[in-house]
Amino acid sequence: MSATAKIFRSLGLSKKMKGASIGGEWFATSGDMLDVFNPTTGELLAQVEQAGAKDYQAMMKATTNAFVNWRELPAPKRGEIVRQLGEALRAKKDDLGALVSLEMGKILTEGLGEVQEMIDICDFAVGLSRNLSGPTLQSERPKHRMMEQWHPLGPVGVITAFNFPVAVWAWNMALAWVCGDTGVWKPSSKTPLTAIACQNIANEVFTRNGIEHGVSCVIVGRGAVIGEKMINDDRLPLISATGSTRMGKRIGGIVGGRLGRSILELGGNNAMIISEKADMTGALASAFFGAVGTAGQRCTSTRRLIIQEKIYDTFLKKLVANYEKVRIGDPLDPKTLMGPLIDEGAVNDYEAAVKAAMAQGGRLIYGGKVLRRKGCARTFVLPTIIEIANKSEIVQTETFAPIVYVMKYKKLEQAFKMHNDVPQGLSSSIYTDSVNEGESFLSYKGSDCGIANINIGTSGAEIGGAFGGEKETGGGRESGSDAWKAYMRRQTNTINWGGEVHLAQGVEFKA
Ligand code: NAD
Repeated sequence: MSATAKIFRSLGLSKKMKGASIGGEWFATSGDMLDVFNPTTGELLAQVEQAGAKDYQAMMKATTNAFVNWRELPAPKRGEIVRQLGEALRAKKDDLGALVSLEMGKILTEGLGEVQEMIDICDFAVGLSRNLSGPTLQSERPKHRMMEQWHPLGPVGVITAFNFPVAVWAWNMALAWVCGDTGVWKPSSKTPLTAIACQNIANEVFTRNGIEHGVSCVIVGRGAVIGEKMINDDRLPLISATGSTRMGKRIGGIVGGRLGRSILELGGNNAMIISEKADMTGALASAFFGAVGTAGQRCTSTRRLIIQEKIYDTFLKKLVANYEKVRIGDPLDPKTLMGPLIDEGAVNDYEAAVKAAMAQGGRLIYGGKVLRRKGCARTFVLPTIIEIANKSEIVQTETFAPIVYVMKYKKLEQAFKMHNDVPQGLSSSIYTDSVNEGESFLSYKGSDCGIANINIGTSGAEIGGAFGGEKETGGGRESGSDAWKAYMRRQTNTINWGGEVHLAQGVEFKA
């Protein structure tokens, strides 16, 4: 049996599947087949029948009904089910991690890391299920008490991007479930197999616990059909959407128009400032992983290196030496450092960006080429370094490919200005051994991003922190810290335990 067949069997996948599930049998009635390709070889992995309007309505009915009962279960009991989901993911980590690499193209260590993130957020959510707490507040009125409570919000809609095909679902749903919400997940049409595999794992756990259908729902369908229905649906009080800024602007506008809530996790344009006071070995390792890791297809990938002029040439020489050693190929081969881009469209975007950079005054330092290999799809490219001014149009845009733009600075203030002078604001980093430089980067006059690091790179984050960014990155926060609050509704309670009625602000009103 081939490695792919083994993974399919372990995760309950087959060559032809239906794309919707509310917990029991998979269903879909549109007749619209989605071909899913292996980005490494171009071979057809499977076909999924996408859900249509009728399937969507059936799913919404199930998830809306299930919410009424799911919220009755005490939060720690909901946490217990999420604990079991974490255990089930642990048991399937190797196969699910390999499927992420097979379908999305990230190297195996990163595929496994993504599943580990799901396990970690389940653990986090279990603890949280006993601590969805609000403060007790001091009342200005005698013998009164004020407090805040958090209640379940409703079914939530989760729309995810191809590059983190499973972790983002877990970041959202592990929290939403302990908060008492049910949910509908629409994965990227580029990565539906990993979503089907996750739902199979969740279905087994929910069924074993006698939980009714509709608490966990997955719907594979077109953004323009199913996605549009979700964002326009008043029965989904929260839409959590991860993807491009273009998609986020549309979703934010429509959900805002119906006064719904949205968590938007959109594109980044992440920079690392490398000071002459930095530890060069660490800076090099972080810049290398940030720019080349995941073939530049992370929202937190390093897109810009802003380097102090005294160390600029030496640093770039060392970086190029690392680039020359990058092993490009099959993401499932443990020796590979960089796998393919997701599809030919992404390769076209890469080529167009390199061309635009050259036309806008850029200088190619390394790469810039599409690789053609026997038995491989047209999805492999050389990681690329281009020297170019920060204000160039192409530098201001997120290209989802392994291209890093390099530029030099003289004074730190100039580096900060360049750093913030882009429309996006996700992840950022400074490498320096100077406390003053580091602290000023974290201060109000430093980085304007949602994530700001010292002496680690821009790429990747731990689940314990709130994840998200400012400006065109959308302003949403997911995962750790108090991100759970977005999945609940807040209620302020005032309780009079003295009997006498007192109006706030000393207002008198007596007959
Ligand atoms: P994309 O915008 O093409 O698609 C993202 C999702 O949105 C898909 O599921 C797609 O079907 C859906 N969608 C598209 N149009 C829609 C519509 N009108 N209504 C509802 N849903 C719609 O993004 P992609 O190419 O899959 O992913 C790459 C992008 O995602 C990059 O810009 C990257 O930076 C961003 N991203 C951001 C984060 C973050 O946390 N900030 C994380 C991962 C990826």
